[in-house]
Amino acid sequence: MFHVKHIVPHILLINPWITDFAAYNFWIKPLGLLRIASLLRVNGFRITLIDCLDYSAKTSKYGDGKFLKTKIEKPLPLKSIPRNFSRYGIPEEILLKRFSLPEEKPDVIGITSGMTYWYPGVFKVIEIAKKVFSNVPIVLGGIYATLCSEHARKHSGVDIVFEGSEEIEALKLISDLTSFKLRTPNSELRTGLYPAFDLYSQLDYVCIATATGCPLRCSYCASPFLAKGFFRRDPFEVADEIEYWTGKYRVNNIAFYDDALLIEPSRHIIPILEEMTKRGIHCNFHTPNGLHIMEMDEETASLLFRTGFKTIRLGFETSNEAMQFETGGKVDNHAFKDAIKYLKRAGYSGEEIGVYVMAGLPGQRVGEVEETIAFVKEAGAKPMLVEYSPIPHTPLFEKAKRMSQFDLENEPLYHNNSVLPCQWDGFTITDFRRLKEELNRG
Ligand code: SF4
Repeated sequence: MFHVKHIVPHILLINPWITDFAAYNFWIKPLGLLRIASLLRVNGFRITLIDCLDYSAKTSKYGDGKFLKTKIEKPLPLKSIPRNFSRYGIPEEILLKRFSLPEEKPDVIGITSGMTYWYPGVFKVIEIAKKVFSNVPIVLGGIYATLCSEHARKHSGVDIVFEGSEEIEALKLISDLTSFKLRTPNSELRTGLYPAFDLYSQLDYVCIATATGCPLRCSYCASPFLAKGFFRRDPFEVADEIEYWTGKYRVNNIAFYDDALLIEPSRHIIPILEEMTKRGIHCNFHTPNGLHIMEMDEETASLLFRTGFKTIRLGFETSNEAMQFETGGKVDNHAFKDAIKYLKRAGYSGEEIGVYVMAGLPGQRVGEVEETIAFVKEAGAKPMLVEYSPIPHTPLFEKAKRMSQFDLENEPLYHNNSVLPCQWDGFTITDFRRLKEELNRG
C-alpha cells in the first residue's frame, strides 16, 4: 500500500505530449481522463488536471488548430526517416513550473495515453513526474497502455498499467490506492456526470460521446477491443449535455467522438438533433471520427445541415469492393454515392464533404487508392488520404506484421502511419508522397 499524505487525497491527472512527425489538433481532448476526473471529484477527491496539449499555436474559427511544436531528437528506431520529429504541446518549462507549485503535490498521479506510437511523449512526462514526485504512485491508462500493455509494463517505469476503458474501474483502483472510501453507490456511478471540461481555464471547444463502442467489426480498427460492447446514451440526456456546454460555458464548437453516431438514426441521432432544434441550441458541430455512410439518408443529412454540423467526414476507406468485403463490409459504393447525393441536397458543397481514403493497407496496390480517389471525386466529394496504422489486437495486425519490413510486434514506434508501415513494391513511400501532392494541388 502506498502512503497517502492528505486527508482528502489529491489526484494529479495528466494528458501527456504528442511526439510525432506531424500532429494537428482536430478537437483533441482526453475525454476518458476528464470522465475519470468527474467521477473522482463527485466522490470527494481533490483533482488537478495538467493537459500538456492545452497550448495551441493557432486556432481556427471552429476551435481546431495547430499545436505548439518543439523539434526534438528522433527516437533511434525512426532515425532513417528523413523528416523532423517534434513534441507537440506545452513547453517543458511550463510543465516543470506546474509541478513545482506546492499545491500540486499529489497522492496519486494518473496519466493517460493516446496512439501507440506517441509513447515517447508519455515516457517523458513519466520521467519528469518521477523525478519531481518520487514515491508517488503513477498509474498509466489510455489507448497505448491498453493496446501495448506489455510494452508499457516493461518500459514506462510506472507503478500500475491500467488496461481498458472502464472509467469506474479506474475510480475504484484509485480508491484502493488511497484507501479513500467512495461516496457514490455503485448503482449511481454511471448517471448524470459530464466530463470535467470545467477544469480548463479556456474552452475553445468540447467533445462529446453519445455512445461507447461500435457494433461493426472493421479489421483495421481497435474500437471493438478498446470498448467492450456498444452502449448508447439516451438522446434527451445527450441534448441536455449539449445544452449545458453551449448554455453555461458558451461553447461554440462541439466535436462528436462517436464511432457509430449514425447507426439506427431514427432511434438515436435523429431524436438528438430534433431535440436540439426544439431547444434552440446553436453551435458548430464536427465529426472528426467519420460518419457511417450506410446509415445516411435524406432526413439525417438534412438535419445535420440544419443543426449546424460544419465538419462532415465520412469513413469510406476504399472503393474496391473486394477490399470493402475483406475489411468488414461497413460500406458499399452504391450507399456512398447516395450519401453524397443526400448531403449535397441538404446544402453541403463537395468541398465540405471530406471522405477518408485509406492508403497503405497490407498488400494494397497504389492503383487501388488512385481509383478510390477518382471515385470520390467523381461522386463530388473531397478525398482525404489517411495512412494505415497497424494496431495491435485488430484482425489485420497479423497480416500487417507479415507484410511489413518493420518490427511491428515489438516496437510501437513503427505503428506510426507516417512511416507507411506496410509499404512494398506495389505501394512505395514515393507513391504515397505523389498521391498526397496531387491531392494538395487539387
Ligand atoms: S465502423 Fe468505424 S469505429 Fe466501427 S469498427 Fe469500423 S472503423 Fe471502427
